Amino acid sequence: MRLFDADLHVHTALSPCGADEMTPPAIVREARRRGLAMLAICDHNSARNVPAVRAAAGGDPVVLAGIEVTTAEEIHVLGLFGDDEAALATGEAVGATLPLAGVASRRHYGAQTVCDAEGRAVDEERRLLAAASGFPLGAAVELIRRHGGLVVACHLDRPSFSVFSQLGLWPADVRFDAIEISAADAAPPWREAVRALPHPVLRGSDAHCLDELGACRSRLRLAAPGFSEFALALRGAGGRGVA
Ligand SMILES: [Zn+2]
Ligand SMILES: [Zn+2]
Repeated sequence: MRLFDADLHVHTALSPCGADEMTPPAIVREARRRGLAMLAICDHNSARNVPAVRAAAGGDPVVLAGIEVTTAEEIHVLGLFGDDEAALATGEAVGATLPLAGVASRRHYGAQTVCDAEGRAVDEERRLLAAASGFPLGAAVELIRRHGGLVVACHLDRPSFSVFSQLGLWPADVRFDAIEISAADAAPPWREAVRALPHPVLRGSDAHCLDELGACRSRLRLAAPGFSEFALALRGAGGRGVA
């Protein structure tokens, strides 16, 4: 087993709040420069830029397919998948519950650019990715699981869009594979509650611009970077784990 640095929460120019500079080749270049062995591309409510980032990376870094679903309660939940089709299908189901983006929303929320591997704009997503989906938390988790995904409760240290900020408690009937912290330490009032959770703790940058990429990262003990190794690490199997 070896240690690998991974940033498993990265946005692209597809996210309305993602900077235009977050194109596939720019993300790959910056990830290599910062020594990241693995990335997960997790745009809001869509996985349409995952294939382009993977193509741009050519295996360095390894790119996992992901999506950051906004539930009906405005909780952010990551789904991480072993293949693009599963992530894209999850995004399709989520997208079907989103309103269409009007002309004004590009100005208000930002562009939603679908890129090719060279970073060229090939499409503009028509659904408003900034909106809350029609999936309540339990249904969103079930949707991700149905597509074979792993479920991560996002940025539990943040004062908004987290399980604690939106619900004020930890839902005992929802099964998460991991929790995520996106800064150095969990902020009150949830610090103790986060520490008490039994889940593996991932650290993801939630990067929306190049400067943020890898600023917060997980160190994973794996045989090699990849989805199946990552899934085993979350279970602590065979000496793997989150360091
Ligand atoms: Zn988020
Ligand atoms: Zn995010």
